[in-house]
Amino acid sequence: MKIGQELIQTKQLSFEYIRRDDDGNAEGVTRAVDNVTLNVEKGEFIAILGANGSGKSTLAKHINAILYPTEGKVYVDGEDTSVEENIISIRQKAGMVFQNPDNQIIGNVVEEDVGFGPENMGVPTKEIWERVDEALKTLGIEEFRKHSPNKLSGGQKQRVAIAGVVAMHPQCIILDESTAMLDPKGRKEVIRAARALNDVEKITIILITHYMEEVIYADRVLVMDKGRLVMQGTPKQVFSMVEELESYRLSVPQVTILAHELRKAGLPLPEGILTEDELLHELQKIR
Ligand code: ADP
Repeated sequence: MKIGQELIQTKQLSFEYIRRDDDGNAEGVTRAVDNVTLNVEKGEFIAILGANGSGKSTLAKHINAILYPTEGKVYVDGEDTSVEENIISIRQKAGMVFQNPDNQIIGNVVEEDVGFGPENMGVPTKEIWERVDEALKTLGIEEFRKHSPNKLSGGQKQRVAIAGVVAMHPQCIILDESTAMLDPKGRKEVIRAARALNDVEKITIILITHYMEEVIYADRVLVMDKGRLVMQGTPKQVFSMVEELESYRLSVPQVTILAHELRKAGLPLPEGILTEDELLHELQKIR
């Protein structure tokens, strides 16, 4: 879904971490994000791919005003993240879900945990409960509302963490490798939830991952390498560039590689095949 209005803008954003030795003396700098200019429209589903250390997480932390640019600017809904008065509003507009669900859950009971965000924002009690009900329903975890989060599976815990963000009524949710620690079932649960939040609730999603198969539903895929934005396009466009993706140490889905190899061997297949169904369909056309 696109309504053509920019929600997030980064302008020539660069960020450097200062490397320190054991005594805390500065040894040098790591340029983790290097001159990234990027626009995300309201309602878009963006996926950011990149090998470990390519700068994805550092970029994401700028959108949530956890980090501030060394150079350049970041705007969330028109608000400059480097202006202190904007921070509370920015963190409410752009919520973040991290990798490890255990580090994000603070409540002893699911419904309490989900209510923490709105409570901290000063939302009146009655409305907190309305928001909690709504968020639990949206994430399909109502049945666990009285449970202890510790007893839930990884995928369920991550959905509790996402519900906690949803209850803050954000415009954008950034999932920073939020599926990395989950089993395949848990990963599917989280991706399904992210897609529903985008489709139904019209929440802008920024999905950071190194699992290629998770990005096929994105409106746009961005690829990062050594802090730079090196590729961007629809999943089809990006996955058409098999050799280029491999040069950024990304493992392309097997079905995409197979289709690419068959094409190189002379079969009239299009580039950028992403699913087995698509490959079968194209092969049937050839017969
Ligand atoms: P990704 O999310 O793609 O794995 P990161 O944004 O975490 O990448 O890291 C980008 C670069 O910044 C890497 O070289 C990493 O080692 C470095 N880096 C990340 N966090 C820190 C930190 N807290 N201090 C120093 N360097 C860091």
